[in-house]
Amino acid sequence: MTATQDWFAQAAALQADTRPLIGGTRVDLRSTETLARVSPADGRPLGALAIGSDADADAAVGAARAMFDSGVWSDMAPLFRKGLLMALADAIDRNRESLALWDSVEMGKPIGAALGDAFAAAHIFRFYAEFADKPLASAAPTAPSLIQYGRREPRGVVAAITPWNYPLPNAALKAAPAMAAGNCVVLKPSELSPSSALKLAELALEVGIPPGVLNVVPGLGRTVGAALAAHPGVDFVAFTGSTATGRELMRLVAGSGLKPLQLECGGKSANLVFPDIADLDAVARDAAHRIFDNGGQLCVAGTRLICHRSLKDELVERIVQHASSLKIGHPLDPETTYGPLASQARMQAVLDHCDAGRTEGATLRHGGERLLADSGGFYVAPTVFENAPAQGRLAQQDIFGPVLTVMAFDTDDEAVQLANDTPYGLSATVWTRDLSRAGAMAHRLKVGRATVLAAAPNSMAFAFPMAAEPYGQSGFGAEAGREGFEAYTRLKAVEMHL
Ligand code: NAD
Repeated sequence: MTATQDWFAQAAALQADTRPLIGGTRVDLRSTETLARVSPADGRPLGALAIGSDADADAAVGAARAMFDSGVWSDMAPLFRKGLLMALADAIDRNRESLALWDSVEMGKPIGAALGDAFAAAHIFRFYAEFADKPLASAAPTAPSLIQYGRREPRGVVAAITPWNYPLPNAALKAAPAMAAGNCVVLKPSELSPSSALKLAELALEVGIPPGVLNVVPGLGRTVGAALAAHPGVDFVAFTGSTATGRELMRLVAGSGLKPLQLECGGKSANLVFPDIADLDAVARDAAHRIFDNGGQLCVAGTRLICHRSLKDELVERIVQHASSLKIGHPLDPETTYGPLASQARMQAVLDHCDAGRTEGATLRHGGERLLADSGGFYVAPTVFENAPAQGRLAQQDIFGPVLTVMAFDTDDEAVQLANDTPYGLSATVWTRDLSRAGAMAHRLKVGRATVLAAAPNSMAFAFPMAAEPYGQSGFGAEAGREGFEAYTRLKAVEMHL
């Protein structure tokens, strides 16, 4: 592990170049309006970012279209496409530290976690590279004079619009399956954290992926993002971000011809704890991870702890102990386990939710305030509320911050009712050792991802997430797994009479 001092020295030496990378080269900006950026760790200036324009988006779509239509990438023998994506995964591994450094500096992620993100991004590219040359299509049983088969073809130009909470893995989760399927991509990373995506596109060029396959245009959502969604030259839009933006994208896409859209939006995930669990401390540790990792800025964060009444007081006590033991500090200190939130706006939004919780009568058990204000950074204490009204802001809204709301239940039906009682449906966890209850809960919860925990999850038992589709206001379309690859293809039926 690089020592703390080294990380600070490396960060001081970083030279941000946030110009778009289009058709294999950095291009000069077509917009002069800029956005001032500041470090979430100390509020110091991080340099300006061009807000981008329709013209930037248009140039990138043009480069992606030209490369796609040339067939150089889309018609490349799948074995070679796979080889190039594997080489990109190796390049991510070799450049782990610089990729992690950008995400840590720009969005305040503790450096240890950012290194983990870079590892995950390489893994995502390897996982999807393998799909490039695997037989996934189907063939029908036919009479000898007829051949009928399904062929998966790339969609064409994919616009990928991503958030700042996991900048590199979010970029990889869209770019890797899209590229493996033979598409050309225009990636619009969040305005808060564009640099790791730009570095990723540079690495793609270095390993020999043709120019124009992966284009990156930083800028604002309302400029570059909206222009991409509305662009007639884009064949598919893949988005991760807030529900409000998801709705706006549906409107933009509908106004620009028929193109498919995939939305991964907000969440309000429940963590249900039943009285048959064996190890309350394991539950407390896991619950704390699910809400405080990445400062709760995680779509599947376990924001609502729905706990059997008999365990609630003891469990809350132990979660508060875990919250108190987090090492809160500068993200470039390798000892830090809990850093700042990504922006001043995010900090303010989370503090507003805490105020709303107090106003609506919830009991604050821990946190609920800004920390380390003298540093100039955007730190909010890990926060635990109890007794929040079920229809209030704390229990209903996507806070996207380190705020846990604890609710109690007496019966299984009540637990399901509470868990399903939000507009969202991304994920849920269920702590039980009762097999029948586990099955019933996994099937009754209206979520895309249901995790049952009979024991603390074993980090060595890692498996790539299977595909899932959210419920309700959390979006639609499959992400991850095999179906997450297929989403970037269109299915053609071929019929041949011999
Ligand atoms: P956001 O919706 O503001 O931004 C996400 C991306 O969309 C950014 O790149 C942004 O520039 C772009 N964008 C914003 N407005 C746009 C517009 N009008 N047209 C086109 N693009 C636009 O979200 P955020 O604040 O970056 O991220 C936080 C939200 O994202 C939270 O609500 C969280 O729940 C959600 N999220 C969901 C997942 C998931 O997998 N479901 C993962 C991470 C974050």
